[in-house]
Amino acid sequence: MARYTGPVCRLCRRQGIKLFLKGERCYTPKCAIERRRSAPGESATGNRRRRRLSEWGIHLREKQKARHIYGVLERQFRKHYAVAARQRGATGENLLKILETRLDNVVYRLGWANSRKEARQMVSHGHLAVNGRRARTPSISVKEGAEISWVPSSTSTTQYEIVQYQAQRRQPPEWLQMDARGMMGRMLRQPERADMDIRIDDRLIVEFYSR
Ligand code: SF4
Repeated sequence: MARYTGPVCRLCRRQGIKLFLKGERCYTPKCAIERRRSAPGESATGNRRRRRLSEWGIHLREKQKARHIYGVLERQFRKHYAVAARQRGATGENLLKILETRLDNVVYRLGWANSRKEARQMVSHGHLAVNGRRARTPSISVKEGAEISWVPSSTSTTQYEIVQYQAQRRQPPEWLQMDARGMMGRMLRQPERADMDIRIDDRLIVEFYSR
């Protein structure tokens, strides 16, 4: 399935929650959810005209929500799920950990990008390195103790200066650490479910793939 290229705010309205897909705008009153704009299938007064979802529809919607939040294509998402299912412990939680430790998400969590989409671009444009080696694959898994930094040739760019300015004003989650200049990150430990500020019911995703 191809990457969704339509208006991203529509995805939030469809889900009925903020998926934070547009960076800074998501934190302003301009956010479509904040403005309580009528969702597709919703009248101007906010009365829903949507059909009642079947059980399968509820499971599908949760899976799509996770996919959209992390910006992962269906095929990649299935691969992540297959890995999660092979691991010990609860599959749903394993899946969320895999999604959280993707390089693009770690870059976003460090505060170097306003959205996961922007973080993905920074990685694929070759601006970042993991343990000193340039990494261009947004989906690679960051391991405990790994160091994320900028490649020297990218530190002379305007983007670097903007990110440096923003990063010093942001606080990464407890499982990540950032240096004083805000431009070197380290993964201290695996994220726990409690560290993830996302409203996803992972059990519904497991049920979707267990059909
Ligand atoms: Fe979603 Fe962000 Fe658009 Fe708000 S501004 S509806 S959170 S993508």
